[in-house]
Amino acid sequence: MKYFLICALFIAVAIVNAQEMSPRDPCGYPDTTTLEYKLAASGNWGYGYDTLLYDLGVWKKSPFVIIDSVGATVQNRTMFVLTVQDTTSDSLNIRRRIWIHARTHPNEVQGTWVTNEMIKMLLDTNALAKRLRQRYIFNIMPMYNPDGVELRKDRQNANGVDIESNWNALSPEKEVLVLRSQFQKYMAKPNPMRMMLNVHSAVACKRYFVYHTPAGTSAPFSLLEQRFINYVRANFPNAIEPHTYFVSWPSAPPPTQYPESWCWSNYKEKIMAMTYEDYNCPTASKFDSTALAILKGIDAYMQDTTAVTSVIASKSTPSYFMLEQNFPNPFNPSTIIRYQLLKQSYVALKVYDVLGREIAVLVNEEQSSGSHSAVFNAASLGSGVYFYRLTAGSNAETKKMQFIR
Ligand SMILES: [Zn+2]
Repeated sequence: MKYFLICALFIAVAIVNAQEMSPRDPCGYPDTTTLEYKLAASGNWGYGYDTLLYDLGVWKKSPFVIIDSVGATVQNRTMFVLTVQDTTSDSLNIRRRIWIHARTHPNEVQGTWVTNEMIKMLLDTNALAKRLRQRYIFNIMPMYNPDGVELRKDRQNANGVDIESNWNALSPEKEVLVLRSQFQKYMAKPNPMRMMLNVHSAVACKRYFVYHTPAGTSAPFSLLEQRFINYVRANFPNAIEPHTYFVSWPSAPPPTQYPESWCWSNYKEKIMAMTYEDYNCPTASKFDSTALAILKGIDAYMQDTTAVTSVIASKSTPSYFMLEQNFPNPFNPSTIIRYQLLKQSYVALKVYDVLGREIAVLVNEEQSSGSHSAVFNAASLGSGVYFYRLTAGSNAETKKMQFIR
């Protein structure tokens, strides 16, 4: 959970009121209920390292799983990663890598239940599971902090450090180094990570993604986040909160001590890096519905070519001139327009109304070859259809978009 981000903000704006420094919405059970719950669940919240080892034994019977030990914790417990994919598929080269890890904070066992449901679903024989295994490479670390789980810690590892927020320490904890080197290894592969999902559970009876604002990331990334969250919500209506429910990184530059901001700092929009927080209260349930919604949401988002392809294509050299459909569309009040330039050219990107009147000049300058984007904000305009026209050297293209107030 991200209460440290909130704290970082408070520090940044120099608010010294101790009252306001306290976490607004920390994850995990509050201290008063933790002990009670720990006892009720016989020590490690109902799912310890032994349970994981048992489950690994069950999962490895599937022909679609490879289980690797990728490192060791402070107390030398093995850290496991499942790789789930269908290697008989011929679409191996275009497969996108999805990373999921859970149980950073030992008392957030609901994150484990959701993650385990996702693993079970991915290993199923049904059509959805088959499609997901053919389209993606899932790398899942079900327990990032086994020492903490076994030592009955609430949030820390064996050294008493919260490994969610140790990423920019001079000597990060062993677990952080293991996870970080996995990320670096995957990013160097032909199928780099396109999603990093950090699964926790909230202090409240709420399910939500932690949304990172454009102030700490970028306007395109914030819109991509919204699009992803909406895809997940569409598969579990009235359950997962909208992106406005919980936000972090409200100030720039983003803190670099957390997994997502580490991904953001290093890879920008290339990885959809998000924390998901499941229900954390006695009435928590429907882990299967949540898991299904997340998997379907990942699939819908990754198949959304206007959202994802252009991001993946960025940095690589384009082989054609292209003006993409704006996203989102219809929009309110802002939208992103992406385009690719074959070579360095003088570029003009302008917006017109239906009568052909020039409304805005978004770009008017020499630009290099490759992928570019511009944000159009229609806050001061009326609802309706607008056109955007890109000219670059001898190339030109016009597309239509719709602003709905
Ligand atoms: Zn947490």
